[in-house]
Amino acid sequence: MSDLSTNFGGLFRNVHTSIRWLIKAIKEAGSVEKLKSNLKNVDEIKDPRLKGFLQDGKFSGNTFSSIYSLSGTMAHEPTLKAMALNACRALFLIAKHTSMLGEDQKPKDVQDLMYNDLAVFVGCLILKLIQITMFNSHEYCALDYPIHESSPAPENFDTTIGMGISSWASLINHNCYPNARRFFVCGQRIGILCVRPIKKNDQIFDVYNTSFYEEDKTARLQFMSNYQFDCSCQACIENWPPVLEIAQGKGNFRAKSPSEKACYRLCSKIEVALREKKCEFDPKTAKYLTEYISKASKEERVPSATTCYAVLILREIFRANYSFRRASFGSCE
Ligand SMILES: [Zn+2]
Repeated sequence: MSDLSTNFGGLFRNVHTSIRWLIKAIKEAGSVEKLKSNLKNVDEIKDPRLKGFLQDGKFSGNTFSSIYSLSGTMAHEPTLKAMALNACRALFLIAKHTSMLGEDQKPKDVQDLMYNDLAVFVGCLILKLIQITMFNSHEYCALDYPIHESSPAPENFDTTIGMGISSWASLINHNCYPNARRFFVCGQRIGILCVRPIKKNDQIFDVYNTSFYEEDKTARLQFMSNYQFDCSCQACIENWPPVLEIAQGKGNFRAKSPSEKACYRLCSKIEVALREKKCEFDPKTAKYLTEYISKASKEERVPSATTCYAVLILREIFRANYSFRRASFGSCE
């Protein structure tokens, strides 16, 4: 369920998105009272893995309960206070200028709302939605230029066009060596690309910031502390070195086998084409990289720089070819 909001900055952006979700939730339920009753039922589900699932056991990203059930980790106190203050302001303005809480319930002062159960429910919901938005929203990006046009591409062609929450994409956990990567389709939808073999019953993992092969553990932990979680992936536990950064930074990459050399050369060639915005989608290349990664995943206990490079390039090929407004595979509209 994706709902793009204009690209406001900072905390205000989260408040804006939260109010949009609140309005959608009330429309879906039919009234504030009905929404309160529906969410009470969701709160009573004890297993966090089942929250947001419908009664038939299916997950629907088109229902508000799928958004409401996402994790909104408690922020640090100063941020939490700012969020609570913004939720109060939003509640007061909504109550004063709309009929959401009833025409006869319009407050003169914020204190008029303190003993109104429905107002307290809406205020708490806004605060929860601000937290959910803060921890789950994605910036939606589009390459702002048709890749096959002969005219030169603008310098800054990767544009953030808004933010939104996709409940099913938020179900995917983080791993510093992910088996899937997210990319944007025409700046409107999120696509998930498998970048390593995923066995039946294996969990799907994306990376929230940078992979192990791009940054060392200290830098990754710093980022994760913002989201208040520790990563227990194999790369973190065994403290794998950032192989790609080392290989490319020092310029002394050494491939061990002819196939590894060939793959590395191909990746370098594609990287240049991507940088010059001349990379056209070639299914044969994607298949070659996929097969290389699959084979290497079976043979290497710790992935080599070439395997990591291939994973990175595979994602970039899809990103470059799907992200702009009219994909080379036909219109997205
Ligand atoms: Zn990790």
